[in-house]
Formats: sequence, structure tokens, C-alpha cells
Amino acid sequence: MGSIEQQVECREKAEYANVNWDELGFALTKTDYMYVMNFSGDEDDFSQGILTRFGNIELCPSSGILNYGQGLFEGLKAYRKEDEGILLFRPVENALRMRMGADRMCMPSPTIEQFIDAVKKTVLANKRWVPPHGRGALYIRPLLMGTSPNLGVKPASEYTFLIYASPVGNYHKGDMNLFVEDKVYRAAPGGTGGVKSVTNYSPIYKALTQAKAKGFSDVLFLDALTGKNIEEGSAFNIFILKGNVISTPTAYGTILPGITRKSVIEIALTLGYQVEERTVPIEEVFDAEEVFCSGTAMVIKSVASITYQGKRIEYKVGTETVAQKLYATLTRIQTGLIEDKMGWTIEID
Ligand SMILES: *Cc1c(COP(=O)(O)O)cnc(C)c1O
Repeated sequence: MGSIEQQVECREKAEYANVNWDELGFALTKTDYMYVMNFSGDEDDFSQGILTRFGNIELCPSSGILNYGQGLFEGLKAYRKEDEGILLFRPVENALRMRMGADRMCMPSPTIEQFIDAVKKTVLANKRWVPPHGRGALYIRPLLMGTSPNLGVKPASEYTFLIYASPVGNYHKGDMNLFVEDKVYRAAPGGTGGVKSVTNYSPIYKALTQAKAKGFSDVLFLDALTGKNIEEGSAFNIFILKGNVISTPTAYGTILPGITRKSVIEIALTLGYQVEERTVPIEEVFDAEEVFCSGTAMVIKSVASITYQGKRIEYKVGTETVAQKLYATLTRIQTGLIEDKMGWTIEID
């Protein structure tokens, strides 16, 4: 028994959890602890957060999150270095994005310092679940949600910030074959597509499920205004390559501004590619030499094919691609194999 701190210390001694690291996909493996911090309308800051055993939480049936979807999530990873040290990848960006999202969803949000501190504590408490170097990552999932009773349509008066974590491996095993959805739209101008609101995801399940039933890996959405330009996937950003130019749709409000997307752009520039953030008409996809996706879960992945209105085009995948070159650089920074000149990683211990 003993305090949570003593238990954490004790857990740390058991170096690795009993996990078959090579079998990990992108699914929940329950870990030891989660972090919880509450906000009540009576005070103007979050309470002191606590680490508690991972488990179910209690919610009022009338809570804002359950009734009206007042909630946000984040996603980031902790990687183990060769020397067993642990690196967080750009957590400040996640903290900032949660703050932007909270503003859009009328929620109070943790400060950058509170967010980073909570992430660090969550990772350290679950250290034995951080996969060995090169065999996956600890995926960290912060949530922010309205938890007070909320019968009327209005912002909640109490909120919970919670972080849990799970070791993960590959997001998509095998080739990535995308279906361009031309009936269901993910995000409208003025909507919430640009923030990680929980309300953005289940509305696309129908399109995703239908595409998967037809053998596709995922869906690529078009802009809701014209239906002519590509925007992004269910949880990833998209890039097309032609010659020395890498193009990606501008993240101006309907597209989630991915941190991997931002990192890809910065790495591509340092590797000498020209990068354009602009409107990308669907026709250009048929003219591209390579297409690839980015997101925390999948990192960077080549797209093997895109199908739009019955027309299918295939792309180069594998070790000789630009996507692979970007992936190699990014993952080496994330796992501490090359010097992080960008200042993206934070070592914790
Ligand atoms: C989270 C997410 C991404 C990727 O963002 P990262 O910060 O790179 O993980 C892209 N699109 C959508 C819709 C997302 O939810």
C-alpha cells in the first residue's frame, strides 16, 4: 500500500510491463495511472491535479460532455531513447492547441505549465509501459470535458482535465488505400474542424465504416463549401508531392492543424523541398508522384492509392519515397537517434 508516490516509486523498479511489444497495434492497453484535475466554477483555476489508478470515472447523466459533447481531446507520444531516457515530442504544441480548442468550445483550459506537468507525471507514473526503443511509443491522451449537470444547452460550470496513456505500435498495418468521400463532409467553415473537439469524429463513422467495408483503409474528405478541394482524413493531414514541391491544404479553420503536419513542413524545408500550403484541388491528386499522410498516431505514411468517383490511382510506396525520407528524419528526432536541432523534444526523468 502506501501513498500514490510510494507506489509509483515501487512500480518504477519493475522496469517493463509484461507486454508483447511487437504485437501492439493502435488499441488501448490499460496502464497503471491516470491524471485528474478538476475545475469548479467557484474557483478560477484548476485544482491541484492527482495521479490515481487507471479506471472508470463517474459522471452525472446530465453532464455537459454526455449530453452536448462539450469536450476536447489531445494526442501525443513519449518515446524511449536507446539509453532508456524518455522523450516527449512537442508537448507545448498540444498544450497550445488544447487552449485554442477550449476557447472555441467555451471551456477553461489548463495553462501550458499545468498541461506539461500533468503529461510528465502521467508518463513517469506509467514508465514501465513506455515501449523499448524502436518498438512503439506511449500514446498520451489528454481529455478536457464539461462534467457538471447541464440540462439546458449552455456551457458547463465544472470541468475535468484527465490524462491516460497506452503503449501503441502501428496505426495502420499494410498499405494505405484512401477513398475520397464526396457526400459526407467533415467540417464546415465557421465550425469546429480546426480544433480537436470530440464532436468531429463520430459523425464520420458512417463514411469510414462504408469505406472500410469496401476494402479501403480510410477516407479523404473534401471541403464542404465547394466539394472540389481535398482537406484531410479522419484523423490525419495529407500531402502531395510533385517534383521538388510538397503541397498540403491550408489549415485555416476546417482542417485540424496537425503537429506532425507542422513538423513535416519544417523538416521538408530543411531537406531542400519547396513546401506550399494552399488550396489543393482533387484533380491534382491524379497528377501527384507521391501522396502521404501525417498524424501523431501514424507519424508519416505513404498512400498507396486514392479512389475518387470510381477512378483509382496508385502511388509509389516503400523505401525510395520522399515520405520515407521524412519519416526517417522525424522518427530519429523523436527517438533521440539524431540531435534535435529544432528543440522539439523534452527529456523527462
Ligand atoms: C489529431 C488530428 C490530426 C493530426 O494531428 P497531429 O497533431 O499531427 O497528431 C489530423 N487531422 C485530424 C482530424 C485530427 O484529429
